[in-house]
Amino acid sequence: MIIYSHIENLLTYAKAHLFLDELDVVYVRNRLLTDLKLTGYTEYEVDCDAIEEMTNPDAVLTPIVEYAVAEGVIKEDAREAFATHVMDAVSIRPSEVADIFSGLHGRSPQKAFDWLYDYAVKNDYVKQSRIAKNKHWDAKGTKGKLEVTINLSKPEKNNADIAAAKKTKEERYPACDICVENEGYCGHGMCRQNLRTIPLTLGGEEWFWQFSPYSYFNQHGIAVNLSHTPMKVNGDTVRKLLDFVDFAPAYFIGCNAALPIIGGSILTHDHFQGGMKQLPMHKAPILTKLKCAEYPYVDTGIVDWYNSVVRLCGANKELMIEYASKIIAAWETYTDESIGILAKTSEQHNGVTPVARKLDDKYVMDLIFRNNRTSEEFPDGIYHAHPEYHHIKREAIGLIEAMGLFILPGRLDGHLKEIEKYLTKEVKYSKPALPDEMKIYAPMIEKLTKEAPKCSAIEAQLNIKDEINRICEGILDNTAVFKKDEAGTASFLKFLDGIGIR
Ligand SMILES: [Zn+2]
Repeated sequence: MIIYSHIENLLTYAKAHLFLDELDVVYVRNRLLTDLKLTGYTEYEVDCDAIEEMTNPDAVLTPIVEYAVAEGVIKEDAREAFATHVMDAVSIRPSEVADIFSGLHGRSPQKAFDWLYDYAVKNDYVKQSRIAKNKHWDAKGTKGKLEVTINLSKPEKNNADIAAAKKTKEERYPACDICVENEGYCGHGMCRQNLRTIPLTLGGEEWFWQFSPYSYFNQHGIAVNLSHTPMKVNGDTVRKLLDFVDFAPAYFIGCNAALPIIGGSILTHDHFQGGMKQLPMHKAPILTKLKCAEYPYVDTGIVDWYNSVVRLCGANKELMIEYASKIIAAWETYTDESIGILAKTSEQHNGVTPVARKLDDKYVMDLIFRNNRTSEEFPDGIYHAHPEYHHIKREAIGLIEAMGLFILPGRLDGHLKEIEKYLTKEVKYSKPALPDEMKIYAPMIEKLTKEAPKCSAIEAQLNIKDEINRICEGILDNTAVFKKDEAGTASFLKFLDGIGIR
């Protein structure tokens, strides 16, 4: 039977890429046979060279999953759960992964992370072929060299879902989607059987690292508190971030502000996001050099970036922690009614997104000042994407976007193709005749048509991209708590002056 050759291909793949030990092959084969409700077996020849060259398991995994569906072993909708189960069966155990990682880390931290990432791709936890479907471009003509990704691999979450998730206190196992109890877990839509995590010690606490299955950039992952405890940003957070970059010197790591609208999608569980990537904000230079008498050896400056960022750079870890903590605490209570900044009303609004990385032997800490207040005019957030941009992005602006890598919803892929047809006149534009889901794009279509009444398909595509790039810049300007005008700049300097930075 052909299924036996598929099983043999998968076992050969696991030996080549997943450290499956020769002594475990019979045992694992029998597990697969049981899962497929087979009781016999015939060995088949395999093309070892082709399998060794594979960069992900799609070609050896898909035929087995399709067999299981065709033979009624699993239901149609159980494909992902079954595929994950099969990949888990041919992967080594979490403890073995952690041992190999730790052995490599002693010699070279980056070698260890490179190995772990490759393992996560090879055992299908990181969905390489799904990620490859994302549309990505470098935004030309933008001041901050923004990057844009249309996310076609992961479903979107909206602010309401995120707020609801924060409020829900019902008993649930695992308590949330990033708890360590997800390692090997399968249930309520989560297939995490093949997840492998790495233990970390940050600020004296037990944490762990895992890669993101739908990464937005190279080696994108999260560092997660071992206990399910809410997000917070304070001096301890800064210490943990710097401990992390000591452990992974080639990575940046950041913590979302611990408030809805300006935070990440999970606020109930303390975690950081990072990876091996220089985001657009990292490349932005210093706009205004400043000094703090108390910390003369820490370089301090306002970053030349759309939103409001202070950058600290120094070699002394303890001083960096003390200094950054002071700034974070000061921002939490800073109010300047003249420009509409209210630290607190009935609830806290000011929050900081700290982001750390290492440059040679120095620590670099970027502190992004955020505020999540809403108003009658801006019910989704005053410092959030304004309504004129919601056709492109309405979801929370977390740290990745605040630093200039935009993750746009998957719906845009199809919708932009439709817009293109109106711009090229392939389809006649009439506002009342627009399908419901396209109505939000009417102002965009009208604007682009006015700017270029007649254009080819290629021109239309370029014009649409330019418009999206412009909107992303506009959204980042929206997130700035201190606007670039005279009043905003003066207030920014006044805030820093209050901490002795001038
Ligand atoms: Zn949790």
